[in-house]
Amino acid sequence: MSPAWSNWRGNVSCNPKSIVEPSSNEDLKKVLAMARTEKMKVKVVGSGHSWSEAACTDGVLVSLKRLNRVIELDRERGTVTVEPGITLNSLNQYLDQHGMALENLGAITKQTISGAIAMATHGTGDKNGSLASAVVELELMKASGEVVRYQQDNPTFYGVCVNLGALGIITKLTLRCVPTFFLRDIQQPMLTDLLRKEIDTLVKENDHFQFFEFPHTSRSYWFKFNKMDEPVTPMPLWRQFLDDLSRTISREGNGIGDWITRTFPFTIPLIFRVAFFTNLRGLNRWDKSFKILAFENINFTYSELEYAIPRSAAIKALEQIHQMIKNQGFRINLPISVRFASSEEHWLSPLYQRESVYISLNLSGSDFKVIENYHREAEQILILKRSLKRPDFF
Ligand SMILES: Cc1cc2nc3c(=O)[nH]c(=O)nc-3n(C[C@H](O)[C@H](O)[C@H](O)COP(=O)(O)OP(=O)(O)OC[C@H]3O[C@@H](n4cnc5c(N)ncnc54)[C@H](O)[C@@H]3O)c2cc1C
Repeated sequence: MSPAWSNWRGNVSCNPKSIVEPSSNEDLKKVLAMARTEKMKVKVVGSGHSWSEAACTDGVLVSLKRLNRVIELDRERGTVTVEPGITLNSLNQYLDQHGMALENLGAITKQTISGAIAMATHGTGDKNGSLASAVVELELMKASGEVVRYQQDNPTFYGVCVNLGALGIITKLTLRCVPTFFLRDIQQPMLTDLLRKEIDTLVKENDHFQFFEFPHTSRSYWFKFNKMDEPVTPMPLWRQFLDDLSRTISREGNGIGDWITRTFPFTIPLIFRVAFFTNLRGLNRWDKSFKILAFENINFTYSELEYAIPRSAAIKALEQIHQMIKNQGFRINLPISVRFASSEEHWLSPLYQRESVYISLNLSGSDFKVIENYHREAEQILILKRSLKRPDFF
């Protein structure tokens, strides 16, 4: 019987013939040689955090979790070289211990660095591309076992970083990193209509700006993260304690809110209002960049569909999505998240040569049919003109 594999969400599963965990490039070459002899397909998997079938196979599934070392930190050049299976979380910890940090991150840090780069994982920020924009060099093992090195001056470099796991196996990565920096994190609820009028300014004036629009309400919640140029002292211990406490309460509250709204969907508008009321004063705190950028405050699973669209199309698309939710009678218990990114050169990136806004539609619960219906309806709106559509592959 084949071993079963499923992703983080549990919405995608497959039965690979075998799951292997090589601990060196030599082992990896042997796996590929065996697969060639047996005429089996090979897929590589990171942390399994993709919502899509990107990591699924009925052949050999290669997990790189044992190839997870930092190979070299070059402070002068501002680069760190790593094996492909290191998680963003471990890399952040390592860099922090050495007074360095990645420039940007997405919402979580459980992914492997190579899984995140292969799928153009992104955070938010007017001047930030996807995490792939931090790559300066990478090595790719082809199906033949040959390892090819790509640097930025190689014309195909921009074709191989974001590769959806379909071009070979990333075996080594060198990324740009910067000295440790602090971010101030300010969060505030706001009426959605007012917020939409201010979007352009808010995006331009802040290093990292994003917001959540809450279906069934007229309210949103924004987040501004800005680099602190002034000398930073760590938050006093009592503030850190209160901050940790409020994050724990909010994480548990999120979990409880998720359970209530899944079980009793009619409570969604009420629960959202309670959440606004308890967060009226917003938040103002500061911390090291990696502790602010990643929104790790989630203790339940959910599904997400995300599209990158031109910034000029964002407001109309958001209006249409709210209208569609109303017309279809959907009960949506998680916010619509709106993030921003600069253009970049990676051929397969949704950001290829276009500044974009990412709109993502989230919903928890185990009725995948309902989730799919919501996402298919939203997709009709987000696809826009065929030439403009760019799904986020995750
Ligand atoms: C809760 C949650 C929050 C998320 N937040 C964000 C976010 O803020 N922004 C965002 O953009 N995305 C986000 N994602 C999506 C996630 O970042 C991507 O799906 C990412 O690819 C997952 O990394 P992984 O290590 O789990 O890769 P996997 O899911 O295991 O694999 C993803 C793809 O990468 C390929 N791959 C993995 N390793 C290699 C390798 N060494 N060489 C070549 N290909 C490889 C796989 O074959 C597969 O095609 C989120 C996902 C979850 C579950």
